[in-house]
Amino acid sequence: MTKEELEYYKNLIDAKRNSLLKEMDDWKNSHSEESNNADGQYSFHMADQGTDTMDKEYKYYFASLDGELLHELDQALERIENGTYGLCMECNQPISKDRLEAIPHALKCISCKGHEELSR
Ligand SMILES: [Zn+2]
Repeated sequence: MTKEELEYYKNLIDAKRNSLLKEMDDWKNSHSEESNNADGQYSFHMADQGTDTMDKEYKYYFASLDGELLHELDQALERIENGTYGLCMECNQPISKDRLEAIPHALKCISCKGHEELSR
């Protein structure tokens, strides 16, 4: 992979990472007030039960999916630094450009990723 290509993917990953961090931050800020209210007098209303459920789903979503995504983005940036970016973590074969274009933080090639998903 050329320097220009690395730079290109680094920018993609950086942009993804920043927007993810911002999204998590915005969500935290807008919900810190709401969750205080949810513990108050309105919590027995049906409408607020709905909000509670959504709150839990969101927490789960950020704890699992985005937490993992953030970790993968960090790993990808690390791999750009140490020169292993674009190589599959499992089999060490180059990951296709198409795949990196779609998922710039991909750490495994499509066939290793496929195996993993099938075996679960
Ligand atoms: Zn592989």
